[in-house]
Amino acid sequence: MSRRRAFPYAPLVADRDPSYEPGCLFCRIAADELPSDRVYENEAVIVFRDINPRAPTHLLAIPRRHLASVDDLTDADPDRDTLAALFAALRSVAADAGVRGYRIVTNVGPDAGQSVFHIHFHLLAGRTMLWPPG
Ligand code: 5GP
Ligand code: ZN
Repeated sequence: MSRRRAFPYAPLVADRDPSYEPGCLFCRIAADELPSDRVYENEAVIVFRDINPRAPTHLLAIPRRHLASVDDLTDADPDRDTLAALFAALRSVAADAGVRGYRIVTNVGPDAGQSVFHIHFHLLAGRTMLWPPG
């Protein structure tokens, strides 16, 4: 299901989740205010290609809701629903990509390599994966 605006002259704000943070890159991508190469979207989640791919398939799955990282998740139902929706989307795009195996990564905090502070799950595939990650 697409949430794209039915009418091009409708205000952009119609696509913003109530949690929208104006300074957040991925909130702006989710709101369609910045372009992205989307491969999947529904009412809760979008998946798009990473701008700097580190593997032949490198996708980013994000919720439309703004949460900074896994550290912001709670046991409350909205967060459980968000996580379930993210992993359903990841399974779906992996199946569509036809990859045999894939890696899901989420960096939590700058020390772990997080550079965009809107929770996201990397899906990497299409090459041999090293273990442990660097
Ligand atoms: P992190 O470092 O936070 O785990 O991952 C952020 C990811 O977002 C990086 O892999 C980076 O390449 C990607 N990224 C940063 N800016 C953009 C952008 O404007 N568009 C897209 N598609 N990906 C981005
Ligand atoms: Zn955000």
